[in-house]
Amino acid sequence: MRVNFIAKPATLTTPRTIVFGLMATPVRPRVTGGDAAFRIVSHGFDNTFLNESMGVTYRDPFTARQRVGRARAQGYTIHNYLANDLFPMTDPAMEYLRHEWAHEPFATYTDGLGALPKKIFGPDADDYIAILNCAMPSRVDYQVHCFNRAMEQQCMDGVYLDNSYPHPCVNVQHSECGYVREDGNVQAGYHLFETRDLIKRCAVLSCLHKTTPPWFSVHSTSAMVAPCFSFADVCIDGEYGHDTKDFIDFFPLPYLEVFGAGAWGITQGWLPKLHGLESQVKPTRTMLAALKLYDLWIWRAYANIPLINEIADIESRFGITAEDCRFVGYWERDASAFSGLPPGVKLSYYFRPGKGALVYVSNLTKEKRGVRLSFDAKALGFASAVVMDAETDASVLGEAGGVPLSIEGHDFRAIILKPTETTR
Ligand SMILES: [Zn+2]
Repeated sequence: MRVNFIAKPATLTTPRTIVFGLMATPVRPRVTGGDAAFRIVSHGFDNTFLNESMGVTYRDPFTARQRVGRARAQGYTIHNYLANDLFPMTDPAMEYLRHEWAHEPFATYTDGLGALPKKIFGPDADDYIAILNCAMPSRVDYQVHCFNRAMEQQCMDGVYLDNSYPHPCVNVQHSECGYVREDGNVQAGYHLFETRDLIKRCAVLSCLHKTTPPWFSVHSTSAMVAPCFSFADVCIDGEYGHDTKDFIDFFPLPYLEVFGAGAWGITQGWLPKLHGLESQVKPTRTMLAALKLYDLWIWRAYANIPLINEIADIESRFGITAEDCRFVGYWERDASAFSGLPPGVKLSYYFRPGKGALVYVSNLTKEKRGVRLSFDAKALGFASAVVMDAETDASVLGEAGGVPLSIEGHDFRAIILKPTETTR
């Protein structure tokens, strides 16, 4: 295997030694039917029943409890938003511990938040959301204490952890945050174990309080540190700043495959970020063309939600979370039950024995493609089947042996195979 770590022309003036470590990944089975299996909303930024916009203490438990009740009635779980590196300035404990918990170097989170220094030190310093701080054991203890109380009061079911990627901190007064190297410089620490502890202890709280699962969701763009997240139920990638850029142009296939294809630890989810394009159908279709190949839960945000829900309705009618349902990704051997795909067109499907298949055929090229889709009915356990378009009220497209499909560039077709006779 060859890996290009530097990825740009460079002249090394002295020898470099790159040391690798192995990251043991505890793999749990993936949940099939990801987009229907998870139903999460979050308390967070705009909820005035929280003491602070993204805090952990509740000024109005009654209102929070009402919201939890409504969500549960619709099958949702409510996660309290928490950023692993930011904490509200006006939290009762933070008022006294802000210097103790402060992250060093302080100003690492400036992209897109240029106003942050002004908001922290400006005229209304105590009214802004948060400042950079470290996942120190004492901070984690405090958060766990607050969540325990909030769950006692039925204000929340679980936690959504944002900014969960490793943050280097050189404050050697923090436990696990750096040490002085032999050359006199400080080696930063990353509080990996504290993050793991935070997730584990919060998941235990949800379990003890018998709240509605899933209990813990982690968001991280690209940096999935699986051992840290192993007590989470779902890991959410995305929210990558590709505003106004085409999703498939922006995310190369290997990126999506590393994250989405197969099991590497935690069931996967995706947070869209089609800012400015949410109202348009095509950008969301392009995103779905890519994501539907991987059986991901998709957070209902920053995309055309009605379209995502229409597709989710098709999936739920088919029964993607049914016990007998299996997801087959294009990279798996059983994907060869289908053939006739030109280069750049990929196919993944849900399959229920005797009940049929829900198939996504995605055109990852920019040009419109004609496909003559064939399938091995015997391999799927059918004697014969009809092929129907799942999006257009299931109109019949043809029967086995080469169904012509036309797919727009960076788009997909959702197809249902309905057995007319089964062999098993
Ligand atoms: Zn630190």
